[in-house]
Amino acid sequence: MKSAFSLSLLLLAAACGSSTQSPQTPPQPPPPTGPVAATPVDDPVVMAPSKPVTTKSLAAIGLDPDALDRTADPCDDFYQFACGNWIAKTEIPADKPLAMRSFVSISDRNLEYEKGLLEQAAAKPGDDPVLQKLGAFYGACMDEAAIAKAGLSAVKPLLAKVSSIRDPKSLSAAVGMLHANGVGALFGIGSTQDSADATRVIAGIDQGGLGLGERDYYLKDDEQTKKVRDAYHDYVVALLQDAGRSPAEAAKQGALVMELETELAKISKDKVARRDPKGMYNKIDRDGVVKAMPHFDWDGFLKTIGIPTVKDMTVGSPEFMAGLDTLITSTPMDVWRDYLTVAVLRANSQVLTKQIEDQAFALHATITGQKEQMPRWKRCAALTDRSLGDLLGQAFVRDKFAGNSKQAAEDEVQAIVAAMKTNLGALAWMDPATKQKALEKLSVMAYQIGFPKKWKDYAFKLDKKTYGANAIAARKFEAARDLAKIGKPVDKDDWEMTAPTVNAYYDPQLNGMVFPAGILQPPFYSVDASIPVNLGGMGMVVGHELTHGFDDQGAQYDQNGNLKDWWQPETAHQFKQRTQCVIDAYSQFEVAGGTKLNGANTVGENIADIGGVKLALSAYRQLRASAPDTVVADGFTEDQQFFLGFGQAWCAKMRPEFEKAAVMTDVHSPAKWRVDGALSATPDFAKAFRCKAGSKMRPANACVVW
Ligand SMILES: [Zn+2]
Repeated sequence: MKSAFSLSLLLLAAACGSSTQSPQTPPQPPPPTGPVAATPVDDPVVMAPSKPVTTKSLAAIGLDPDALDRTADPCDDFYQFACGNWIAKTEIPADKPLAMRSFVSISDRNLEYEKGLLEQAAAKPGDDPVLQKLGAFYGACMDEAAIAKAGLSAVKPLLAKVSSIRDPKSLSAAVGMLHANGVGALFGIGSTQDSADATRVIAGIDQGGLGLGERDYYLKDDEQTKKVRDAYHDYVVALLQDAGRSPAEAAKQGALVMELETELAKISKDKVARRDPKGMYNKIDRDGVVKAMPHFDWDGFLKTIGIPTVKDMTVGSPEFMAGLDTLITSTPMDVWRDYLTVAVLRANSQVLTKQIEDQAFALHATITGQKEQMPRWKRCAALTDRSLGDLLGQAFVRDKFAGNSKQAAEDEVQAIVAAMKTNLGALAWMDPATKQKALEKLSVMAYQIGFPKKWKDYAFKLDKKTYGANAIAARKFEAARDLAKIGKPVDKDDWEMTAPTVNAYYDPQLNGMVFPAGILQPPFYSVDASIPVNLGGMGMVVGHELTHGFDDQGAQYDQNGNLKDWWQPETAHQFKQRTQCVIDAYSQFEVAGGTKLNGANTVGENIADIGGVKLALSAYRQLRASAPDTVVADGFTEDQQFFLGFGQAWCAKMRPEFEKAAVMTDVHSPAKWRVDGALSATPDFAKAFRCKAGSKMRPANACVVW
C-alpha cells in the first residue's frame, strides 16, 4: 500500500519478467471553444514590478535549451515544448526499454559509481567488513565461469523438495520451504501494519503465484498481451527442460502450468479493486485463514517460515484463499510439481546459468522491447544493491550525498509542508472540523531524507566462489527479517528502499515520506540549479509524496496511520466528486498507440502530481519572495522556468512494448501525461504561458483537488 514515485522500476531494473508504467499523442480534452472557466485569466505575464531583472541563460539555471521544441505550442502540448527536441534526438540504448532525462540517466550514473566501488572492493577489500561483503558478492556475481560450473546446484534442495510433493500436506511443506528461501509461490505472506491499530505488526497474506505478475496478462486478448503470454509459455517450457524434462514432456507440462496460472489469475483481484484499503483489509486471523483454505497445512507452513505461533492475520482477498483451496484439491499433484519447479527456476533466473538468464531475458525483451541485456557489471551492481543495499548505501551516501544535499532537501520539504498548510487553510470545499484533522495529519507527517537512521547488518555468510548460494542467502535473510517483525512494535525507521534508489515514497500507515539519496540528483536537484528549477524538479517530487497523504487512498488513513474515517460526510462527498473529475479527465488521455489511460487505476498518482505541482509552485514563490531581483532566463520568467524544470525532469522516450506494459501494470500515468495532465489542471500554468481559454493546456473542466 506504499506509493512509490516513479515508473515501473521492476521493469527497468530486472532482466526477468516481473510486473509493474508511460506518453503519446494529443488526445481528448476536447477544448471547448466557448468562454472559459473561472480561474485562469488572460492577463499578461508581469514581472514583479519593483524588482530589478537579472538575465541569464537557460543552462546557467539548470535547464536544457537543446531539449526544447520551440516550434511546439506550450498551450497545446507543454511536454512536447519542454522535451520535443530531446525526444527527437535521443536514441534508446539497446540495453534499455526506455530513455529518460531523470530516472534512467540518474540510475546509470549511480551504477557507474557503484561499479568503481565494487570492482575495488572485489579486487582489494582490505580490512573493512562492509567492503569485504560487497566485494565477495559482486566478485562472485562477475565470475561467470564459476557460475556456469555450479549449474543448478544452488537450487537443488528446493527442486528436491518440490519433487517430493504427493498430496496437499507435502505441497504445503514445499511451499513453506520456497517462501523461506524467498521464492514466491501460490500467495504472498509477510509482515504488515495492522490497519485497525497502527502500533501493531501482524501477518498479511495476499494473492500471488503469477509468473507474469499481473492478472490481465492471462485474461486479456489484445495482440501485445497475447504475444507476452506466448513468450511466457515458451519460457515455462524452456525452464522445464532446464530442470531435466524432455522436450515432449516439457511441452505438455508447460501447457498445464499455463492453465493453472490462468486459474490463479481468474481468482485474483484486479488492480482497481486492489486500490481500496478497506476491501484489502480482512482481519480474519489464523482461524479464519485455516477455514478459508482448509486443505493447506497451515501449521506446518507457518512453522517452516519461522512464525509457528502467529495468530493475527489479515488477507487481501478471502475469495482468493477460497479459490486457491479449490485449486489445491482439483489440480493434480504433478501439475503443482511442475508449476513450483518453474517458480524456483524463475525466481533464481538471474543467479543460475547463462542459459536460464537468457531465457528470462527473451521474455523481458518481449514485454519491454529491450534489445540487449544490460552488461554483466550493471546487472551485478543492481543485484548487489538489491541484496546488500544498506552496505552499498553506506558508501553511496558518503561519496555522493555529502555537503549541503541533506540540508537543502530538508529546506525544500519544510517549504512544501508550509505551502500545504496555507493551501489547506484556504480550501473552500472543506469544512472546519475536517480541515482541523487534515492540519493535524500534516503536522505529524514524518519525513526521512538521504539514508535510514540505522543500517541493516546482513548477518549471513558470503563466499566469493558461490554466487547462487550468496543470492539465495540474501533473499532468505530478507524474508526472515520481514517475518520477524510480526508481533513487534512498528519500526518507523525501517525503509522500503535502499539509499542509492532513484525513487521516493509515502507510506500512509506510517504517515511518513522517504526520499533516498539516489533521487536527490540532477535534473531533480542540483546545488547549481536555480530555486524555480529545483522546485519544479525535486520540489514537485516532495509535494507529490506529501499529497499521497491526502489522495484517494491516503485520505482514508488518519494521522496515526489507522484506516479510519475522519471526514465529515459533506466534505467526503466533495472530495469524491473531485477524485471522480480526475478519473474522468485522465481516462480521456490516449496512450500506447490508441488505447485510453486507466483513470481509476492511476487516480492516486494523478492527484499527487496535480497537488505536487501546486505545492512546489507555491513553495518556490515563497522562497524567492525576498530575493532582491527576478531572473529572466533566455526570455522565460521564473514561473515559466519552474514549469520547464518540472517538464524537463520527465523527458522520456519509450519503446512501444514498454509503454504498453507500463499502461497494463503501472499506477502512474505515462511521463507525457504526468506533465500535461497535471499542468492542464494548474491555472497558474495557463497564466504563466498566457494560454487562451479552451486551449488544450487550459481546459474548461480543470480538476483541482488540493
Ligand atoms: Zn506517487
